[in-house]
Amino acid sequence: MSRQPIVVANWKMNKLPSEAEGYIQEVAPKLAKYPNVDTVLAGQDVLLNAMVSAAKGTSVCIGAENVYWEDRGAYTGETSPAALADLGIQVVIIGHSERRNYFRETDEMVNLKTLAALRNGLMPIIAIDEAVQLESENDHAHWIVNQVVESLKGVAIADLGRVMLAYEPTAAIGSGQAMGPEITQKSLRIIRQTVADMFGQPAADQMRILYGGSVKPTNAYELLAQPDIDGVLVGDAALDAMTFIELVSLAD
Ligand code: PEP
Repeated sequence: MSRQPIVVANWKMNKLPSEAEGYIQEVAPKLAKYPNVDTVLAGQDVLLNAMVSAAKGTSVCIGAENVYWEDRGAYTGETSPAALADLGIQVVIIGHSERRNYFRETDEMVNLKTLAALRNGLMPIIAIDEAVQLESENDHAHWIVNQVVESLKGVAIADLGRVMLAYEPTAAIGSGQAMGPEITQKSLRIIRQTVADMFGQPAADQMRILYGGSVKPTNAYELLAQPDIDGVLVGDAALDAMTFIELVSLAD
């Protein structure tokens, strides 16, 4: 089954509103050359309004980097999924390893956020991390399977087409050292098999699963050539507009 490749830039907390617009104006006309690759730019909340305005009428899809699990209410400082949808945000990254490690997000919180995103019509990209050094292959598989199962608890099969998973081993993030393509493929196969066990093979076959962790133009092609790697989630390298375009061209 063919799944449309996707390249997601995670700007994290790196760009200013005044920089976001210029980046989008630079990439949008170039992305028109690659209609077979989906692209998402994810920014911190304070950028989202400017990003949505700059991306209007282009193929660029704008994403948030986090969301709260209630739609509205007295939750000072949190971001409502309903507000994101109302603003025109289509995608939200949930459970990034920085959120899990620095802000103590648990699997249960990731699951609540996923359900909230889906309830509000957003497409969640759920990050599956690997924060600890695991002794054996079995431990490694168990860790991944557990995160997938916990994140997707209660997701309706009808909503699954809007869910993406991103395998992001913590040690590879920001290290300059991506995981090798074969070993990454093994982990993604485990993830897809877990989705198949939960929801059936057809649902697993249609789900896009991404890899993230020091992706750059020198390693993206080999990673994307693996059968279960449908896209990449990119931090540092995607801060540069031209490098982002290069990554999209490699995914084409
Ligand atoms: C990320 O934070 O999602 C990420 C993959 O970062 P980097 O590409 O910088 O490793």
